[in-house]
Order: sequence, then C-alpha cells, then structure tokens
Amino acid sequence: LGRHKDLQRKTGFHYKGLNFDQDSLHIFAGLCAVDNPKHVEEMMIALKANGLNCTRMGAYKPRTNPYAFQGHGKDCLPWVFDLAGKYDIKVIAMEVTHESHMEEIDQALNDAGNPCGVIMQIGTRNTQNFELLKAIGKQSEYPALLKRGFGITLSESLNAAEYLASAGNSQVIFCLRGMKSEFGAPHRNMVDFAQVPTVKRLTRMPVCIDPSHSVGSRDVAPDGVLELCHATAQGVMAGANMVLVDFHPAPQKALVDGPQALTLNELDVFLKDMEIARKAY
Ligand code: PEP
Repeated sequence: LGRHKDLQRKTGFHYKGLNFDQDSLHIFAGLCAVDNPKHVEEMMIALKANGLNCTRMGAYKPRTNPYAFQGHGKDCLPWVFDLAGKYDIKVIAMEVTHESHMEEIDQALNDAGNPCGVIMQIGTRNTQNFELLKAIGKQSEYPALLKRGFGITLSESLNAAEYLASAGNSQVIFCLRGMKSEFGAPHRNMVDFAQVPTVKRLTRMPVCIDPSHSVGSRDVAPDGVLELCHATAQGVMAGANMVLVDFHPAPQKALVDGPQALTLNELDVFLKDMEIARKAY
C-alpha cells in the first residue's frame, strides 16, 4: 500500500465500473443500520434522484451495549440486494465483523444474481482484528474499507491496512473517522480530516472520511451550517476520495445513530456543498 516494498505500486482499483484512487471522489450516503425495506427503498430512490450509485448499508452492527439492536445480519441481505438492483446501485459499503459475514454476503449476492458490488467495511473496533484482516485480505473479489482504530496511532492503523495487502488484497480504502478523545468533545470523536493528505503522502490508498461517526450530531454552527457538513467540506477540500455519510428517511425512527443522520431532503444541498468543496481542493 505504498509502505510496501514497491513504492511505485498503484493501489487504485476499478470495481463495478467505478474507479477508486487518490484522485477520485465517491459519496456513499446511506443508512447506518438497515432497518426495514421501506426505509432502504426510500434511501435508494433519493440516491437515484440525486445521481448517486453508491451507498452504505449496515447489516451487521457492532454495538457497545449487547442489548442494543445488533443489525438484521444476513436476513436483510436478499431484499437489500434486490433493491440495489432495482435502483441501479453499483456498490454498497457494508461492515463485516466476522469472516462468516463475508461468506453470507457472497452467498446472498450470488443468490440475487449479483445485482451490485460490496466493499467489505472493517469498523474501528476491528482495526486490529488481525484474523479478520487476514481473511478479508486473502480474497480478491471484494475491496476492503478499513476504518482507523479510534485509540491507536495512525501508524498502527496503517500497519493494519498492510495486513490486508500482505495477505493479497490491494483493493484497500483507508477511512478516517475521528479519534476517541475528551479533547474532541462535544463531538463524538476528535475530527481527524487534516490527516487526509498525510495518509495520501504515506500510502497509495484512496482515503475516505466518515463525518457522521466523527462529529456524531446534527449540531449547527453559528453560520447556520451543520458542523457535520463543515467537517465533510474540510475533508473533501483536503482531498478525500470517498465520503461515508449517514442519511435516514426518518432519523427519529432510526435504530442506530439517528441523532447524526441527515434527512433525505438534505441530500441535495449536501451534494452541492461537496461539489463546491471539491472545486476548492
Ligand atoms: C459505521 O460506520 O457504521 C461504524 C460503526 O463506524 P465506526 O466503525 O467508525 O464506529
């Protein structure tokens, strides 16, 4: 991934007709957690109406509280993939917390006739789950998106990405999602998007930002703009290649992280802001 022996090796890649590299920009707006077919369909209709063909959909949710909703898991995959086919969604970013989830996704995609692709997301709680990294690294069918660990150094997170590459998968995207720190409060995590260019300098990976899990709220700055949107713009202006962002048709009904979700009515203006930020890059 750039830290590897051959520094000239490009780790940009093509997947499902899309190009992912250190120059591209893809917006993956979608549900933090898949809840029901109605909300997934409303989300996809909004994506299509706004010219987007990628999304995020959480089926397997790593929760702090064991009694909290854990995601529908494999049960929701058939209808999520059917709807992706119906609305021409090309790629879904979906977190996996266990190797078996990758197999379930693979099976469900095959059963559905492969209507879309899936990027295997490794969440911040699993950044150093080396056996999971090796398992995802060993296959080359699915790209991987690795979130930085919330409590380890950047270098340790980049080494975790190297586990994917050294096992054989060079289709890796690195995602900044903020660091756990008292100093970041009242944001959920300390926003770390100033490191977008740093990761690009140190590696050849496309760099993603996740403003939703970094800022973690819909707090509005004195200029009337959501702080989450300010943070996203900062990351895009710094050269981010992908944005993973939570939207929901009815955030008050979301089963996970509703308070940080943007509404479907806000998608249009969010994308316009990103366009301006990208021009400023
Ligand atoms: C997520 O993206 O749904 C998520 C749980 O993110 P993180 O691993 O960054 O907390």
